[in-house]
Amino acid sequence: MITLPKKVVLLDLDNTLTDTEGNSRRAMNMMYDELELSKQFPPFIIFWGVYHDCNEELWSEYRRGEITRDLLNERRFTWPLELMGVNNLELAQHINEVFYKHFLPQDGVMPGTYELLEYLHSKYRLAIVSNGTKSSQLVKMKVFKFEPYFEKMFLSDDIGFPKPDVRIYEHVLREMGVTAEDAIMIGDDFDGDVVGAANAGLEQVWYNPTNQKKTSDFEPTLMVDNLLSLKKYL
Ligand SMILES: [Mg+2]
Repeated sequence: MITLPKKVVLLDLDNTLTDTEGNSRRAMNMMYDELELSKQFPPFIIFWGVYHDCNEELWSEYRRGEITRDLLNERRFTWPLELMGVNNLELAQHINEVFYKHFLPQDGVMPGTYELLEYLHSKYRLAIVSNGTKSSQLVKMKVFKFEPYFEKMFLSDDIGFPKPDVRIYEHVLREMGVTAEDAIMIGDDFDGDVVGAANAGLEQVWYNPTNQKKTSDFEPTLMVDNLLSLKKYL
């Protein structure tokens, strides 16, 4: 159970507030059509599966501090192309550009996002803590009109450590001027958002709408499959 009162609510951005997976898939499909990739690659559904697996693995490596942001951004398209038998950096870069052109305006959110933000904003100081690429996150704040809700956005690109590194959470608490007991972290990533925040002494909510398996025995303070159910607890 969450220990009340809290002063600060920290939120992850991607796949917690924004439907990044759905937005990516739509943008990728648009890129695939625009570049007529189905003429030289398998149907989109196959491409998406290969890309998705590579992307998940690269993000895990980034969270573990094994690869840099630059390598993550480079490998997310070169690697799936290699797996489909194509070694072509220029094509990967072109795919990346066309994908982002379609991705950045996508504005799909998770169910209940704006209602939750209205509610939390009326009771707590809010901040975002995100591992996402800085240039994308700045655009997203405008596209989604999130700026009025948040006092600050903390990015691993600025701070130098990705979630789950406790140093990003320590930095956030210092900047917000609160103790770990005063704050709570909400996010969809079990390692980055839940275990990482717990290691820094925060209570945490695991937002788990797709019923993912935990990656360790750690028990989150609270797990929800629906953002609006948080109104009962906070
Ligand atoms: Mg997330």
